Amino acid sequence: MKTIIHRVDITKIDNNIINDAAKTIQEGGLVAFPTETVYGIGANALESNAVSKIYTAKGRPSDNPLIVHVSDKEDVKKYVKHIGDNAKKLMDEFWPGPLTLIFEKKDIIPDSITGGLSTVAIRIPSHNIAREIIRVANRPVAAPSANVSGRPSPTMAKHVISDLDGKIDMIIDGGDCEIGLESTVVDVTEKIPTILRPGGITRNMIEQVIGHITIDPAIKPSGEKLIPKSPGMKYRHYAPNADLIVVKGESKEVVEHINNLVIEKKKQGKKVGVIATNQTKDEYTCENIIVIGDRFNSEEIAANLFKVLREFDEIEVDNIYCEAFSNKDLGTATMNRLLKAAGNKIVDLR
Ligand code: AMP
Ligand code: MG
Repeated sequence: MKTIIHRVDITKIDNNIINDAAKTIQEGGLVAFPTETVYGIGANALESNAVSKIYTAKGRPSDNPLIVHVSDKEDVKKYVKHIGDNAKKLMDEFWPGPLTLIFEKKDIIPDSITGGLSTVAIRIPSHNIAREIIRVANRPVAAPSANVSGRPSPTMAKHVISDLDGKIDMIIDGGDCEIGLESTVVDVTEKIPTILRPGGITRNMIEQVIGHITIDPAIKPSGEKLIPKSPGMKYRHYAPNADLIVVKGESKEVVEHINNLVIEKKKQGKKVGVIATNQTKDEYTCENIIVIGDRFNSEEIAANLFKVLREFDEIEVDNIYCEAFSNKDLGTATMNRLLKAAGNKIVDLR
């Protein structure tokens, strides 16, 4: 299949391209487009055939449900049985934005999207290009991250091209994704909502709106043996080709430990990479260092994580070492993705 690639300037959206993308979705095709979180690969959510093409293109396990994207809050009623008070408050506060809510689904939502679950995940993206495509398509759009399953999520069009060129109908290149990590997933089917996946909207932000919520214990690093309620969280995910290890502790000791690991691996003939921060970049002896950003700028670290993992794939290192980052607020999502990418391999020096 020849994949058509269109470049769209977010400050001057070309309606012809939006129409073309929307028409492709209406006709059952697959279109990758930018959202504020990561690039998504969109298909008509009401058509099982179109949805099954997503699973094939990504190589995604069929029990890993997709998020349905809509452009207007009013649409949600058509697809879910009940919208509770907490859900309403969260929709009013955070939509459009990086928050996905889980509701009991109506029959119109095909089982193929929900991996057979009785619930459906819905969100309104805040990215103008994404919202315009969904609005013009005039259909709910299933859109998981536009990567091959298991690989780091795509935050730039070139990541999508590298994973999906030739496998989907169209790629809309709308520049870099601002947040760079996937949406927060919150189950609002129970009285007390539960975070199933940490993301751009933090626990604190949610609790300021609806009070106490819980976190699915399976998404905590120590909860590895539990079965997550969000099926996607059980798979190895976001992973670079190299073996990634996270090192946690006082900055000075972390650098020293990583420098020793690098020497050891190089003796074994391995090509090694280090993910450093502005604060530590001059302290590493490794020749392949990529700076992810300022340690104290959690937005910057989040936005660059997947990009950096992919850059190491491009220079084909065998091993990557990375400092642990703050686990607070947005850092919870960053550390969740980083540890998943590392297959939970962490050295704790404390
Ligand atoms: P992605 O689209 O790649 O960002 O992945 C979507 C995430 O949402 C996965 O972790 C899914 O398991 C989760 N998800 C989607 N639908 C549901 C649902 N009905 N219940 C729980 N988690 C869901
Ligand atoms: Mg994904």
